[in-house]
Amino acid sequence: MQTAEEATTCACPLRALVEKQGFAVLDGGLATELEALGADLTSKLWSATKLLDDPHLIKAVHRSYYEAGADVAITCSYQASFQGFASIGVDETRATELLQLSVRMAAEARDEFWSDHQRLTPATTTASDSCGTAPLPCRRRRLRPLVAASVGSYGAFLADGSEYKGNYGMTIEQLMDWHRPRLRALAATGADLVACETVPCLAEARALVLLLNEDDGTACYSCLYAWISVSCADGAHLASGEALAELAPAVAAADAGGRVAALGVNCTAPRHAEAAVRALRAAVAALAEPLPQPQQQQQRQQQQQRRQRLVIAYPNAGEQWDAAARAWVEGTGEAHRFGELAARWHAAGAAAVGGCCRVGPDAVAAVRAALEQQHGCGDDSD
Ligand SMILES: [Zn+2]
Repeated sequence: MQTAEEATTCACPLRALVEKQGFAVLDGGLATELEALGADLTSKLWSATKLLDDPHLIKAVHRSYYEAGADVAITCSYQASFQGFASIGVDETRATELLQLSVRMAAEARDEFWSDHQRLTPATTTASDSCGTAPLPCRRRRLRPLVAASVGSYGAFLADGSEYKGNYGMTIEQLMDWHRPRLRALAATGADLVACETVPCLAEARALVLLLNEDDGTACYSCLYAWISVSCADGAHLASGEALAELAPAVAAADAGGRVAALGVNCTAPRHAEAAVRALRAAVAALAEPLPQPQQQQQRQQQQQRRQRLVIAYPNAGEQWDAAARAWVEGTGEAHRFGELAARWHAAGAAAVGGCCRVGPDAVAAVRAALEQQHGCGDDSD
């Protein structure tokens, strides 16, 4: 296992992007857009079925989110697992290939988007562009986007809505054993980040963080960064009912190598997101060391800000998921308000904002416009 000092020798791509741009835009729901393009996702493997029969549709969806303004695409591996694939007769070798394919589709979409973007705006799209107050049109300030390999919770494999309850009755060791093969397969792909998502309980968050810190004997883990994002029951509690304020200390205690760059909330109703972001920010800040002598305070504050984990938010549209019917309950979704809401979540402390289920490219474009405006980009985006 590396020490925290060794781990910091390679920079976290998400933090680097946030520091240059002032924010990061995450993508929206992958399955939502696949369905909008006509995909049938009614099987137990949900969006992962497209890895088997139509990977290029996945790539097209990633491209549409990059075009809409996403700095980070999250791969189609959320509900892909060795056990899930085995249940439909896919062996381990093929399952590994499919997990790697999920990252490759996002990486190809990113590379093609970025190549076209640079060609269309050749003068100003180097990675060193900053999004400070320089009077450049905002669209020309895009930075090369990232690919985050999705690791769905154990509940996502169960496909019974358990990721919104967290009552697995499994030990941390059992959860580690279940997650280990997929995490290793995804870590070997060279994805920029690992996105541990829709985690409903502290035990699973701990299990994932311990796994991220395992030494698997290869170089894959030497520069691995991840975020841990939880599903919440309200603005102060995980889906399991445990206090959201306990997430940051639990992660810090397990993250010996400094692998976890960000903590977040996702697939949670938008009405809970602002309070959840504030709770995460407060808990992260509370872990900061006490300040030393006054003359060193400013320097130490800057160092602490760099060490503190980022907070991210990518809520769903606010509709209810009927696990028995495997369908969204039509209601009062809030995807149409994501621009306005994103501005509030960012102001509350979320460095990266996007959407989850039922949030599409239009909402992601609104998020980008809102965050650019908050950073002084105004209306000069074309
Ligand atoms: Zn979701």
